[in-house]
Amino acid sequence: MLKKPMKRPGIAINSARCMACYACFIACKDEHCGWDTALSKAQPEMGQYWMNIVEWERGDNPRRIKTATVPTPCSHCENPACMAAAKNGAVYKRPDGIVIIDPEKSKGQKQIAEACPVGAVYWNEKLEIPQKCTMCAELLDDPDYPGFEPRCVEACPNQALVFGDLDDPESNISKLIAANKVTQLECLGDMKSSVVHLNIPSRFLAGTVAYPKELEEVCIGAAVKATLENGEVRETVTNWAGDWEFEDLPKNVKVAIDITFDGFAPVHYDCFTDADHYVAITYLDPVK
Ligand code: SF4
Ligand code: SF4
Repeated sequence: MLKKPMKRPGIAINSARCMACYACFIACKDEHCGWDTALSKAQPEMGQYWMNIVEWERGDNPRRIKTATVPTPCSHCENPACMAAAKNGAVYKRPDGIVIIDPEKSKGQKQIAEACPVGAVYWNEKLEIPQKCTMCAELLDDPDYPGFEPRCVEACPNQALVFGDLDDPESNISKLIAANKVTQLECLGDMKSSVVHLNIPSRFLAGTVAYPKELEEVCIGAAVKATLENGEVRETVTNWAGDWEFEDLPKNVKVAIDITFDGFAPVHYDCFTDADHYVAITYLDPVK
């Protein structure tokens, strides 16, 4: 039981604040490598990433490339697939919701690692056991441990990780979740979990507007309108570099882009958000 009682301890992971510094990853290694704890065998130094920093490049054109970062530990699911796959009670969920793999009972049960949709369980070939994040419950239970947060949360220099009681509406974590966009890991469907992801980017469309090519000059202040297939309309104007962008569009929808600027012919593009796209450099034609 946690020394600081909480009904449902959880971690909110805010991708908008994560800068891929890996301090959380290192803190996890520092805590779990080299020795066994009350709840787990030692994490191998290589090949296991209990706090896995998932990064990817966004965009299909060097004119607009962005990165996304999603620290991805075990989600501590409400109905864990790893627990369903385990025999002999080798995976259990504590009353506070933290999911633990018993290092003794799980010996030989590789199916536990294979069952996790998040890929958060690692198979230890040497010990023949599945291993994963414990949310540092062994520390948080320990009355002699001076801290009150998992090591990864403590280590984060940018408040991208926030720990607290998900069942207390007045806790910092509950307020943070209420104020941000919850972006559930797609592999978990609509299952609740004690790790809550916020602000994972979805799709962007971007482009640039310029005057006729021979002028070699970008167009500042052109109106750009995005009309989504559900009728939603978003509007922006080109910036000092002639660039426009619509961020956080839903995936796999049709989007009509209309560009207008006084004295020039309007331009229309039909786009699809199957990926992050840089649509085009649009050279405007004067109205004759
Ligand atoms: S994320 Fe994977 S390992 Fe963690 S509780 Fe869910 S199914 Fe189990
Ligand atoms: S410590 Fe914080 S900012 Fe750094 S990678 Fe981890 S979550 Fe991101």
